[in-house]
Amino acid sequence: MTQNQTATDPMDVVDYKDYEPEIEGLGLFKRGVERWHADFAFRDAYALDRRAALDSAGLEGIDPDELDILVHRHMAIAANEADTPVPPMVAAYRRFIKVKMKHAKQVRDSRPDNDRYLRWRRRMINSGVFSQGVAKFEKVVHAPFAAELSRGCTVNCWFCGVDAGKFEGSASFDEPTEKLWRGMLQVLADEIGPDFAQHGFCYWATEPFDNQDYEQFVDAFHDELGYLPQTTTAVAMRDPERTRRLLKMAGQRNAFVQRFSVTTKKDFDAIHRDFDPEELLLVELIPQFENRASPKATAGRVRSLVLDRIDAGKEVPFEYDLEMTGSIACVSGFLINVPERMVRLVTPCRATDQWPLGYRILREERFEDAEGLRCFVRSCIENEMVQSLEPEDVVEIRHPEAVTFEIPEPDQLDVVGGGMRISMRGIVGAADLAERVRNGAASLTELVEDREKAGYEPAETILGINRLFRAGCLREPNDRPEHVQLSISAEA
Ligand code: SF4
Repeated sequence: MTQNQTATDPMDVVDYKDYEPEIEGLGLFKRGVERWHADFAFRDAYALDRRAALDSAGLEGIDPDELDILVHRHMAIAANEADTPVPPMVAAYRRFIKVKMKHAKQVRDSRPDNDRYLRWRRRMINSGVFSQGVAKFEKVVHAPFAAELSRGCTVNCWFCGVDAGKFEGSASFDEPTEKLWRGMLQVLADEIGPDFAQHGFCYWATEPFDNQDYEQFVDAFHDELGYLPQTTTAVAMRDPERTRRLLKMAGQRNAFVQRFSVTTKKDFDAIHRDFDPEELLLVELIPQFENRASPKATAGRVRSLVLDRIDAGKEVPFEYDLEMTGSIACVSGFLINVPERMVRLVTPCRATDQWPLGYRILREERFEDAEGLRCFVRSCIENEMVQSLEPEDVVEIRHPEAVTFEIPEPDQLDVVGGGMRISMRGIVGAADLAERVRNGAASLTELVEDREKAGYEPAETILGINRLFRAGCLREPNDRPEHVQLSISAEA
């Protein structure tokens, strides 16, 4: 490593709470990176004449030699290998990105206080890595809960991965609802731990700004859990002053990055025009209007469009492969709709005919008050977050197309998939066990008995199977078509 290379471990940098940009103009520089990534006409113009392109985009203060290091990989490598240090602006931008990565990692690595929940969530994370790969893992935080404060959404994005319904009103932050809301947050803090609960957020198939009292809800969240939940809005320009006030509020609370989901190029330009670059330093712009910069998961509405095209015999771009992509869900926990008083236990999965929105619903129920929510949470942890396979449970690999077993030693079984390897030593008859699990068994009892006939102790087999189960590579008992949800539908 030369003296100029920056360390790659994001944990080397300060925590988000202590982060201060150490250089003037970082917001403008970030804006240049955003423009290059999202605006392909700008890219073309920049390729012809860097200075002229930057000037006409209002980015006069940016040095193109610095921007090039961020947007061209070969320039980044050359800059890292040069004998002179990378320019201070580039170093500052890289540091900023590392602080964001560190924060995302801290959220992903945070742990529920409850051991059953902890082990279940770990399995859900592993299962996601096996099926969708380590790159996807980086983006899915498996948050503890999402609270919807409206019914439906007014925005109606064509790509909505959770297929939001039509807007039908919002919860008001009146006295009874405030009491309920604070009580719900306290319940979550009690049952899963305040440090974990603070990684929840307040939207799902809803637009935060559709709720007229959204800011009061999130401020109460901050009071109860000590963190202002991240906002992602698709209508930052609906009322720029309101957006600005929310950003200001975030700056005065324990909070970090907010996100604008930018659905049109017009909005992208307007955001860059109306907001000061430094005002948006801690705002991530997601250029939804440009597929090349922001590819869509094949879930929800995108999946329906793909299926329609297939039905019509039309070609489907490879990035919308129905098998290999598909989920924007990022909660392994509770999806709560406040106006409907409805709560579901959910976890991400690939979108399928059974789960077209890219998350499984393990259980759903209405609740009347905070104690009702507590009962649901406790019951889910006890009954749905299973800890091992029971004798009657089917044994099969959850993602046979993605997971392989390797036997490096007679008593070692490695589970490999999605760029991850989990090595298990001390597995008696590892090759035999791997083979039987590959073939599947109608029940754990059947597999144990068959192995016993081959000379393996039942206790060893049960132990081996449950180690595989805890690794997240076996199908969950409540992830089978015959699993009947304990459900009361919203319309009931
Ligand atoms: S993507 Fe978000 S803003 Fe767009 S329709 Fe879905 S929930 Fe609404």
